[in-house]
Amino acid sequence: MKFSKFGQKFTQPTGISQLMDDLGDALKSDQPVNMLGGGNPARIDAVNELFLETYQALGNDGSFREDINSTATSSMANYSNPQGDAAFIDALVGFFNRHYDWNLTSENIALTNGSQNAFFYLFNLFGGAFTDEKSESVDKSILLPLTPEYIGYSDVHVEGQHFTAVLPHIDEVTHDGEEGFFKYRVDFEALENLPALKEGRIGAICCSRPTNPTGNVLTDEEMAHLAEIAKRYDVPLIIDNAYGMPFPNIIYSDVTLNWDENTILCFSLSKIGLPGVRTGIIVAAPEVIAAVSAMNAVVNLSPTRFGASIATPLVENNAIKDLSDNDIKPFYQQQAKTAVTLLKKELGDYPLVIHKPEGAIFLWLWFKDLPISTSELYDILKEKGTLIVPSEYFFPGVDVSDYQHAHECIRMSIAADEQTLIDGIGVIGEVVRELYDEA
Ligand code: PLP
Repeated sequence: MKFSKFGQKFTQPTGISQLMDDLGDALKSDQPVNMLGGGNPARIDAVNELFLETYQALGNDGSFREDINSTATSSMANYSNPQGDAAFIDALVGFFNRHYDWNLTSENIALTNGSQNAFFYLFNLFGGAFTDEKSESVDKSILLPLTPEYIGYSDVHVEGQHFTAVLPHIDEVTHDGEEGFFKYRVDFEALENLPALKEGRIGAICCSRPTNPTGNVLTDEEMAHLAEIAKRYDVPLIIDNAYGMPFPNIIYSDVTLNWDENTILCFSLSKIGLPGVRTGIIVAAPEVIAAVSAMNAVVNLSPTRFGASIATPLVENNAIKDLSDNDIKPFYQQQAKTAVTLLKKELGDYPLVIHKPEGAIFLWLWFKDLPISTSELYDILKEKGTLIVPSEYFFPGVDVSDYQHAHECIRMSIAADEQTLIDGIGVIGEVVRELYDEA
């Protein structure tokens, strides 16, 4: 069968499709697998109990005949409008205005089927072919001010790839008073001198904060500087808050979250523990919300209401924030500590440096001068039943062929249970020690 160019673009093998296949295969496999590769959130009992309780209550809250007149039935049996479930949007408006002084109205929020869906819309709205004032065609890209960045951005453009990326400054830092860590910082000098920026070929600036894959959290100063550049060049600043505050709040450094009409904030219910309900939230200027709603109408008719109905009461009574602060964040902070201790035990005498864990559900490990690429390391580890993700996929918009650093890192999930961390890190230690020892 012949596919259109559009079809070919989406069916060719991509980094994300390989990753998702491996993860799916690992879950189906009858061999034990140390799953340190995926982006699935952890199973946290207190979290799952609250969601299940809320879900069950939705089936029994009807005023007339409980089973047929409940929130559960009404949200299953009716489309929302293309902007998304109105009750959830109202609850979110109240929630954000209670916690931040953003003065939102319902015109500032749209829902999508997961935030991946939001990035598909936004990167195609702000990246690709534009017509300038002289009716000439200009190709604009999404500026990623700090790569490595989220693997899922790479292939979302309907035609081609439209990214301009800036490589990081790498600073050696301490973590909890210990050596052996580094932190990426935005190279503003390189960024401000980008010809694409100066020549009007950037359509938006985007960063994930905390960053997937590194667990980096851009500082408030870096964010203020990016917001200023975005305003100066009249492009929006998109902040991917999938792991950020106020939910799931997997963020350990002391930072704040800001929004204004030039900012597009993307939230998700996935990393609070609900990836299956596919719910993303966009907070933006009404013009952007209207565009997203129009795209929802064409692509989905309306976004799914299932996650919205579970989350509405939890947003109304702040339980989503309490859960994030008291259960989700401390859980991952402890997991990061455990993983760092295990890694130091396995590889403390070897040239391993770890990105300072500041948030998200991953550790980013840099094996300096590793004799093989981490894509080759991935294959060896996979053979031995341990899955990680090699670094080369996390540089959208960068030609990594001459950039050694992009072949020396791996992303490791810390969402697994303790035994899997012990076993998986044990295998990584054994393989990496042997590689360095034989070099
Ligand atoms: N953004 C980041 C940084 C992510 O890590 C992910 C998922 O792993 C997403 C967006 C997409 O998440 P979802 O579509 O489940 O909301």
